Amino acid sequence: MTPFLDLKRINAAFDIAIRAGIARVIDAGWYILGEECAGFEREFAAFCGSRHCIGVANGLDALTLILRAYGIGPGDEVIVPSNTFIATWLAVSQAGAQPVPVEPDPFTHNIDPARIAAAVTPRTRAIMPVHLYGQPADMAPILEIARRHGLKVIEDAAQAHGARYQGQRAGSLGDAAGFSFYPGKNLGALGDGGAITTSDDELATRLRMLRNYGSSIKYHHEVAGVNSRLDEIQAAVLRAKLPALDADNAARRAVAAQYGEALAGTPVQLPQVIPGAESAWHLMVVGTARRAELQAALSRAQIGHLVHYPTACHLQPAYAGPGWPALPIAERLQGEVLSLPMAPYLSPDDVAEVAGVVRAALA
Ligand SMILES: *Cc1c(COP(=O)(O)O)cnc(C)c1O
Repeated sequence: MTPFLDLKRINAAFDIAIRAGIARVIDAGWYILGEECAGFEREFAAFCGSRHCIGVANGLDALTLILRAYGIGPGDEVIVPSNTFIATWLAVSQAGAQPVPVEPDPFTHNIDPARIAAAVTPRTRAIMPVHLYGQPADMAPILEIARRHGLKVIEDAAQAHGARYQGQRAGSLGDAAGFSFYPGKNLGALGDGGAITTSDDELATRLRMLRNYGSSIKYHHEVAGVNSRLDEIQAAVLRAKLPALDADNAARRAVAAQYGEALAGTPVQLPQVIPGAESAWHLMVVGTARRAELQAALSRAQIGHLVHYPTACHLQPAYAGPGWPALPIAERLQGEVLSLPMAPYLSPDDVAEVAGVVRAALA
C-alpha cells in the first residue's frame, strides 16, 4: 500500500521550522507584503540564479502577469505545448492572447523545438515552454528560435523547482518564469502560492506594481493591476522548506533511478531525460497502451496512481470550438500516460513494491 502522494508526511519533515515560521508572522503582526515575502523573494531568486523574484498568489497568476507585464494581449499569439496542464493555456487566454499549440517530443513529452518555427506567425509574441513533470524543456533551440523571431521566452516552471538545464536552474533559462507553490509541487506551501523569477529589471518593476493593484506608492495606481500576492504565512512556510529542496530533489532522482532499473525490460515506456537536463522529478510518468490493466492492478494493490493529463487542453470543453490543428501526439499521450507514486520519502522497498505490481500486471 503506497499513496500517490502523502503531503502530511512531506510537511512533517519540516514541522518545527514551519511552526516557527508561522509563529514569526503571528508575532510580527504583519500579514501581507512584509519581511517574510521579501525574504523568500531574495532567497528564491538566489536559488534560481535570477536577479528578481516576485511572489504572487499562485502559478496561474505568475504566468498571466508575466504576459501582461510584457504587454502581450488581444491580437497576440503565444506558443504553448499541446501536452501540458491547462494553466499554461489559461494564462495566455486570461491575458487576452491566443494559445498556439505545438506538439511534444513523444519521448520526453516536452514541447518539440523542431516543430516551433512552423507555428510562428507575424502575431507571435512569446514561446511558453513547460518543464513538464520536472524535466527542463530543450531550451537551447527554443531560445535560438525566439532570438531569430524577436520573441520572449516565458518558462512555465510550475513543476520544475530546482531542475537544471546545462547547469543552469529552471527559472533562469528564459526571459521570465512562473512558479507554483501549490501544496503538491516539489516546493509546496500550505495553501496557494506562486512566484515569478526574472533578470529583467524593468519587467520586475512592472510586475511588483501589477500584483499589488498596479501601485508602487500607496493609493497611487499607475496601471490597472490585480491583487495577487504571496502572503506572509505561505512565504514563511516556503522559507522553511527551500533549504531542503536540493536534497529532496536528489531523493526523487534516486527514486526515479530505482524505478528505471526495476522497470527495465517491461513494456512500459520510461521517462527519457535529455543530455544536459537534470529533472526535478515532480512526477514519475510512464507510458503504456495497456493503461487500464495497469490502473486496475495498482488499485487492487492499493497503490496510488493518477493520469497527467487525461484530456489534452484543446479537447477540454473550455477550449471547445473549431480551429485547432490536428494534435495526434498529445491525443495519444492522454490515453497512455500513467503517474506512479513519486516523493522524496519513498524507500527502496516502496519503489520495489510498486515496480513489482507494474511488472506483474504487464507480464
Ligand atoms: C501547477 C501548475 C500550474 C499552475 O499553478 P497554480 O499554482 O495551481 O495556479 C501551471 N502550470 C503547470 C505546468 C502546473 O503544473
